[in-house]
Amino acid sequence: MADEFPFELSPMFEGERIRKDGMYIELAGPKSKGFELVRAEGMDEVEDGKFTLIGPDLSDMNEGERHPFAMIYRIAGEAVEPDLEAIVERRNHDFQNYINGLMHLNQRYDIWLRISKDAVEKGLNSFEPLAKATMMLFKNEMTFIEKMEALYITDADEIEKRLPEIRAIYEARDARTRDLHDEDVDTFYGCTLCQSFAPTNVCVVTPDRVSLCGAINWFDGRAAAKVDPEGPQFAIEKGKCIDPVGGEYEGVNEVAASSSQGEYSQIKLHSFFEYPHTSCGCFEVVGFYIPELDIIAWVDRDYADPVPNGLTFANMAGQTGGGKQVVGFLGIGINYFRSPKFIAADGGWNRVGWMPKHLKDRVIDDIPGDIVDAIATEEDATDLDSLKAFLIEKKHPIVAEWKTKEEAKVKEAGTKTPAAPAAPVPAPVAGVMPGALPAAGMTAGIPMPIAGMSSGSGGGIKIILKNAKINIEQVIVEQTEE
Ligand code: SF4
Repeated sequence: MADEFPFELSPMFEGERIRKDGMYIELAGPKSKGFELVRAEGMDEVEDGKFTLIGPDLSDMNEGERHPFAMIYRIAGEAVEPDLEAIVERRNHDFQNYINGLMHLNQRYDIWLRISKDAVEKGLNSFEPLAKATMMLFKNEMTFIEKMEALYITDADEIEKRLPEIRAIYEARDARTRDLHDEDVDTFYGCTLCQSFAPTNVCVVTPDRVSLCGAINWFDGRAAAKVDPEGPQFAIEKGKCIDPVGGEYEGVNEVAASSSQGEYSQIKLHSFFEYPHTSCGCFEVVGFYIPELDIIAWVDRDYADPVPNGLTFANMAGQTGGGKQVVGFLGIGINYFRSPKFIAADGGWNRVGWMPKHLKDRVIDDIPGDIVDAIATEEDATDLDSLKAFLIEKKHPIVAEWKTKEEAKVKEAGTKTPAAPAAPVPAPVAGVMPGALPAAGMTAGIPMPIAGMSSGSGGGIKIILKNAKINIEQVIVEQTEE
């Protein structure tokens, strides 16, 4: 049946990357608009195999162009219910990446696709075979789908017109977990779908923690595990709670150890610094520690400019992904900002110092009123100096922490050692090895020297660089007089 398509279909193409020079056309992505959506319908409302296109087809597009792009799949079947929509939708990423010559990234309104020049040269000139191949894979692998039809849209006005309604559908899905919390359930859900490119990643989806791709909440995980017990989403008996604030559970740790092939054996669901959740690469937002100010900042895919630490989302995404626990960086789904347990182990919103304005506006109703004005955006600060000035001016809670920690340090230095210079960096965070917090441009596991600590022969510190990426603009060597 796959012979009917002008391309090969196989899971071995999943990791295929289409770079700019090999790209024929780009669809949706950060410089355009688009979305993907699955809707559950009644059996007599879906015409199995039907494909409709609104807007220009591939044959009407020219090499090198970028076009808006949306995909809506309508599914029906005895076991099909609205709870399954998100889980089916997320598999679109999987199945479209089986197509040789098509690259699919991200999810929901963040989708980004490329079609290669090779694929077009081999005869791909329409979206129809792409849709038909995708629907065939869905029906083969998710056998509860009995009927399926696809609507693809490349018309910019049509996409723009539909986007508000589509966003409302995503938001309604996300809102379902608002009144349910981790302590209310005995079962969490795991997802290993992204192990095809991040082999040690396991997402743990709980009522208070949406998946980092943002596409799967606790209800979605439950529906998927029920309808497809052999699939990538599975139940996790949460077991005994080890740390109620950090969100550590015996059952989650066991799954972490087995599903990550022993790469790690502890996960704290609501911790940024200590045994953080892994990040595969699909996260909607990346959080990053700014050691100079002892705050955590956040940036999403839609913000392309450098953030106050001088890096961009793309710079940090490369360091954060891969399915590792990267202390100092954390990938999350946007809806996790709405969780009452949002990075609870590290101060929650009181530890947040910066985020892009459009992201802050999107979650503003969930930011506690007493901190909302003290969180800077690019309109307030674009570098560390202006950010520091803003935090001081707005009396951000971290400013009081700086003073407390500074005083404690001075006191400690006064009792234990000869006068040491005041430390210009904040004290390390509880639960993290002193100096192990990453600076901008560094991955976790790089102990950094702390100002004020001796590194001479009288003990000092040991520097271990693990999996390090270090960018140094300038090295100045000066001779000091003895
Ligand atoms: S990011 Fe996590 S929850 Fe989302 S598809 Fe990947 S593994 Fe599953």
